[in-house]
Amino acid sequence: MNIENLLEKTLTKPQYKAIKILGDQFHKMGTRAFLVGGTIRDLLLEREVSDIDIIVESDPSNLMHKFDPQYQIDVISNSQFSTCKIKILNQAVDLAMAREEIYPTSGALPVVTSSSIEDDLGRRDFSINALAACINPPNWGEVLDLYRGLEDLQSKHVRILHSGSFKDDPTRIFRCIRYSGRLGFSLEDGTRTQLLEDLTYITLLSGVRITNELVKIYSEKSTNSILDLMDQFEVLGHIHPGFPKGPEFSKRKKLLTDISIPTSELVLYILISLIQTDQRMDLIKRLDLGNKLSKFGRDLNRIELIEVSSSRTKIYKQLTEVSEIAISVADAYVSKELRRNLKLFTNELKTISLCIDGEDLMGIGIPHGPKIGDILSKIFTHMINSGPLSKPDQIRMASKFFGDS
Ligand code: ATP
Repeated sequence: MNIENLLEKTLTKPQYKAIKILGDQFHKMGTRAFLVGGTIRDLLLEREVSDIDIIVESDPSNLMHKFDPQYQIDVISNSQFSTCKIKILNQAVDLAMAREEIYPTSGALPVVTSSSIEDDLGRRDFSINALAACINPPNWGEVLDLYRGLEDLQSKHVRILHSGSFKDDPTRIFRCIRYSGRLGFSLEDGTRTQLLEDLTYITLLSGVRITNELVKIYSEKSTNSILDLMDQFEVLGHIHPGFPKGPEFSKRKKLLTDISIPTSELVLYILISLIQTDQRMDLIKRLDLGNKLSKFGRDLNRIELIEVSSSRTKIYKQLTEVSEIAISVADAYVSKELRRNLKLFTNELKTISLCIDGEDLMGIGIPHGPKIGDILSKIFTHMINSGPLSKPDQIRMASKFFGDS
């Protein structure tokens, strides 16, 4: 199959030109070059191509000085993994060396060696991402489809390349669900069975790798369909056993939509809110979520542990240090009774303050000394117990407390 026409039709003019120049140049340098991965998948689906990924059978950073000087190529970044980001004709392009990957153990990062395009396609996650199109002039647009990716694009299937794929790299479980939700593709039967069998390997992933995958899911336009699939496959329970079963993930997202939390963090707030109280801090440690989210977790625990029939003072004490965001999030899902306590705190207890100070007390004849502090604190406690008082009432109460002492 040759996609020469599709390249011309689907790519923007500058993208097309940039790829043509790169193909020509790499050809002159004697190396094969291919469009790969999401670029070719999206081209074939006639979706907008946002990233241009090119594989060359050489380390691209060693080729930069060989470009014809008539083309301005800016190297934006170079990484130790033989990949580099360049800009040509104002187009960002990711160049990577064809590689082979070996996974020493499940969930660990792979050992990488330089290789051919054929091996490079073999290390990929799904057949729809394992397609390439040659950009060297003699074979311009020729598709390399070693894993029946074209057939899967047609039948709308996400399919792994081999049965050990999820075990090698359990982040592919999240990726599989993400592509399925994003593209509206179903999981090929064997892939579905394997995914269900391999969910347990999620436990081998580091917290950071899991968090990255979840944040990516949340950056998708079709987050909701992806979350439905996450619920369907009960993925959460494999991230931590303290999560409830059932379609809770998507339900909780809907409950929290009106709360202003940056999109990139919302997923983490949802997860922390969903887990059982006594498992919450363990999840935060497992996902390595840092101080801000640890505080959020502790705050939710404080809220959830308030007894419904607590006194006003107890409610005040329990919530006084709790952040507003934790109260807003909890307000969306706790019981009606507990919500009443949150309302009492937010609308009344939190607003209570003394409108008098030591000067006022000395003004009514109370002598300078520790008594002043005691009386002010007693008035404050009284208001927390029984409701706010006006300034004259606070002064009257101070005088009464002084008289009683
Ligand atoms: P997107 O549209 O989400 O950017 P993409 O396919 O470009 O999709 P990337 O995460 O940028 O996705 O990865 C680029 C390519 O690298 C993928 O198409 C896939 O072939 C390969 N790839 C990425 N992550 C993995 C992985 N964990 N295992 C195997 N191959 C992977």
